[in-house]
Amino acid sequence: MPMQAEKIDIAIVGGGLAGGLTALAINRACPMLPIGLFEAGQSFGGNHRWSWFEGDLDEAGTALMEPFEKAQWPGGNEVRFPSHTRRLSSDYRSLDSRSFDAALRRLLPQEAIRTGSKVMGLDAQGVTLEGGKRVKARLVIDCRDAGPSEHLTGGWQIFLGQQLRSEKPHGIDRPIIMDATVDQPGAYRFVYVLPLGPDEVFIEDTYYANSPVLDEKLLRGRIAHYAAAQGWEGQLVHEETGVLPVITGGDFAAYRASLATKGVALSGARGGFVHPLTSYTLPIAVENALAIAAQASDNLESLPEFLEGRAEMHWRRTAYYRMLGKMLFDAAEPSERYRIFERFYRLPEPLIERFYAARSTPLDKLRILTGKPPVAVGRAVKALLGKGAPLVQGTNP
Ligand SMILES: Cc1cc2nc3c(=O)[nH]c(=O)nc-3n(C[C@H](O)[C@H](O)[C@H](O)COP(=O)(O)OP(=O)(O)OC[C@H]3O[C@@H](n4cnc5c(N)ncnc54)[C@H](O)[C@@H]3O)c2cc1C
Repeated sequence: MPMQAEKIDIAIVGGGLAGGLTALAINRACPMLPIGLFEAGQSFGGNHRWSWFEGDLDEAGTALMEPFEKAQWPGGNEVRFPSHTRRLSSDYRSLDSRSFDAALRRLLPQEAIRTGSKVMGLDAQGVTLEGGKRVKARLVIDCRDAGPSEHLTGGWQIFLGQQLRSEKPHGIDRPIIMDATVDQPGAYRFVYVLPLGPDEVFIEDTYYANSPVLDEKLLRGRIAHYAAAQGWEGQLVHEETGVLPVITGGDFAAYRASLATKGVALSGARGGFVHPLTSYTLPIAVENALAIAAQASDNLESLPEFLEGRAEMHWRRTAYYRMLGKMLFDAAEPSERYRIFERFYRLPEPLIERFYAARSTPLDKLRILTGKPPVAVGRAVKALLGKGAPLVQGTNP
């Protein structure tokens, strides 16, 4: 006799940042709705560290992130460029995926926790797990990660981060969001430093490149060199890597259509809910999770269209960041790309904060572009008119 399919209200597929926050927000708004957070891996969140500025989140967003155990720095942050160093007053937060996983396991109902559950198929009526088990749902939200797409253009942000335990106190008391005083070997490169404890430091070497190739050996060597130059030699505690797309253009409708399943809500980075230039999504994922939860308590069935509308609006609202990305990749010589950021970091701090949260005002946008341009005007115009390279692994020059 065939097994009776399990029935729940909402199946969230992909227990990464977006899926996890969505599950939490829905559970807080409608605790009686049976939900399942299906994650292929053994833990939620993968191997990431997500950071954000305190001001990126409104009151409701701050409340959603409140139960997560995170690193916080009350003394602002710092950026370093060849021509200037600046201390910014924005307080910084950082959440490790291991703390993310622990909090979700504590906060979500036991039945919602479906780690080690790879979804092999999904449709408007439910999901089919590896092994053939079917779980019926009134609504499916797809928050799986997505690979590169031929429908989008741009470049890549590539990084490797190491958490080190230094032999003696490192003496750093606030995050260094960008240390671009380092060599610029054919790409915009910077080091990112988080003092996690008096003798624990997270060092990440990042560069923007045209091709998505992660050379781990090279990046480990650069981190070792940076740490040694600061006198921070120590023991490796943890390592993470990332190759994130920087989106400069493309056909967003075709992109979403290529990933859509009729009647299924498409969300997360896969659904286009990212900052096109920084690839950071935390403030966007928080806002989206709260909006989904509010809509779910109102009208569950309308969520696929609701998210479609939100995604289109997000794409329109972030056009400016894609244009800046074009300037970064197509108009500036790789070794001169840092100048775009160097100049940006001379602007007023509230503008910088709004930029990171993808909430720049029209006046901000004008200010970022006015003044002596950091790239040649002719090249900038050519870049803006150009098509850009497709975001597909292996095809970038
Ligand atoms: C190392 C690293 C550091 C980063 N740092 C930051 C940062 O500081 N701030 C920031 O905002 N962003 C950061 N990012 C960007 C980050 O990718 C996004 O912010 C965020 O993780 C995207 O969330 P998501 O939930 O859409 O996708 P993901 O977090 O990638 O989650 C997708 C999940 O779906 C699961 N999945 C896929 N297929 C299936 C399936 N068939 N069945 C079940 N589950 C499946 C995956 O296992 C994964 O857990 C970082 C990324 C990396 C790689």
